[in-house]
Amino acid sequence: MLESHKEATVADRILNVHSNSIGNWDWSRAPSGRATNELTELNNLLSTVSTSDRPDSWKFSLDASGIFTTSTMSNLINTLKYGINSRNLSLPRNKYVPQKVFIFSWRVIQLKIPVRYELDKKGTDLHTILCPLCDQHIETVDHALINCQKVASIWMQLLGWWNQNSYTISNINEAIISDQGFSHNSTGQSLWQATKWITCYILWKHRNLKVFSGKIWNPAMIISEIQTQSFSWISNRSRKKTSIAWHQWLLNPSFYVAPPPNRSGVG
Ligand SMILES: [Zn+2]
Repeated sequence: MLESHKEATVADRILNVHSNSIGNWDWSRAPSGRATNELTELNNLLSTVSTSDRPDSWKFSLDASGIFTTSTMSNLINTLKYGINSRNLSLPRNKYVPQKVFIFSWRVIQLKIPVRYELDKKGTDLHTILCPLCDQHIETVDHALINCQKVASIWMQLLGWWNQNSYTISNINEAIISDQGFSHNSTGQSLWQATKWITCYILWKHRNLKVFSGKIWNPAMIISEIQTQSFSWISNRSRKKTSIAWHQWLLNPSFYVAPPPNRSGVG
């Protein structure tokens, strides 16, 4: 408040004399009363500060490099919110799915979802490590999301829906990482991968609903949820010119991937 020139810079007011910071004040009136104490306090603080002749710059104090990047910020948020450091992620992002689906997919390939086999390995006391859906096999991540007969039938229908009958998905790496299918078209690969990630996400959600809420495993309902939810997430994240029509999505999503040539001539 007492500064005469409100636009004055630190360099105008703090002189560096033989490595000591000296105040070079220009007050509108001499400090008195409480301001005197504040000035003494300020001088004490300045005695520990050394200035230089370099221009001012910003420093991002949350990273050792001092440099702000959106990926550093994003990593910090992920670490706080999800307890993971996405700097270690080997999974490339997919722009068609929400962050929670990406994080879930990452957890799946790291075997970090709490299936009974993994919980048991960590010493959790469970009355069974058998799959809660079929009650016949040990519930590993591969079993829970891919190989259990209850989920395998859903994958079969999904492959049919996408005209991908020539492929099989036999483990989580094929569901999450592999880019088999649509190798000629990168948009197609991304949409197909997004659908597979969303499928895993929804299968796990329904597994949990069965285990924790006693909800009945209903394949028709799950397929329908995969179709509506993937449509909603993917179409909201698609650019206008690649906008997706619901009935077409339901009928044949691979339509968006490789439209047949001379489609206009078909009528
Ligand atoms: Zn099972």
